[in-house]
Amino acid sequence: MARYHGNVCRLCRREGGKLFLKGKRCLTEKCSVDRRNVAPGLDMRSRPRRLSDYGVHLREKQKVKRIYGVFERQFKRYFRMAERMKGNTGVNLLQILERRLDNVVDAVGMSYSRPHARQLINHGHFMVNGRKVDVASYMVSPGDVIKPVNKEASKTLVSNSLELNVDASPPGWLQVDREEGTITVAGIPAREDIRFQDIREQFIVELCSK
Ligand code: SF4
Repeated sequence: MARYHGNVCRLCRREGGKLFLKGKRCLTEKCSVDRRNVAPGLDMRSRPRRLSDYGVHLREKQKVKRIYGVFERQFKRYFRMAERMKGNTGVNLLQILERRLDNVVDAVGMSYSRPHARQLINHGHFMVNGRKVDVASYMVSPGDVIKPVNKEASKTLVSNSLELNVDASPPGWLQVDREEGTITVAGIPAREDIRFQDIREQFIVELCSK
């Protein structure tokens, strides 16, 4: 599956804010956004560019794609799916993205970062309802139980991450048993469960509906 191989801190600087793509490092003074928050290619003395209305809408879409690590084709597919669902299209879209398996694993602290969660899943370290799932975009549903496969290496990887992320507070729609290393999906994420509360999903809807 295609994924971005470049420097992820550049993505944050391009969007002008933290996208939290490097786990704990994002909370330290090593974070590029804290040290040098200018878009790639510009220097500290450059005046920030004024964006057109279209530019503001586009940046919002790019930001969400980068947070969740999805490319344009898959994002469009999610958007069409969100449009077909009942309710607010923007919220539906965020719910779909939140339900991705890599997001779930990262949200509860079973990985060091979102890219690490994707790697663990792709390498076959997780199962859903007793069956191995190695697709990071797998969409979880209420009642699903996610846990590491029955291999010592997988369990160790997960418990190491949980130990490192001991202060992680999982969103309300996910129940975590840290001892057993299991996640139970208790429901569908509400708008207030979305980890990035500052996303302006209405801009994305306006852009993608044209
Ligand atoms: Fe973004 Fe994290 Fe890099 Fe900071 S450390 S720029 S939040 S990926």
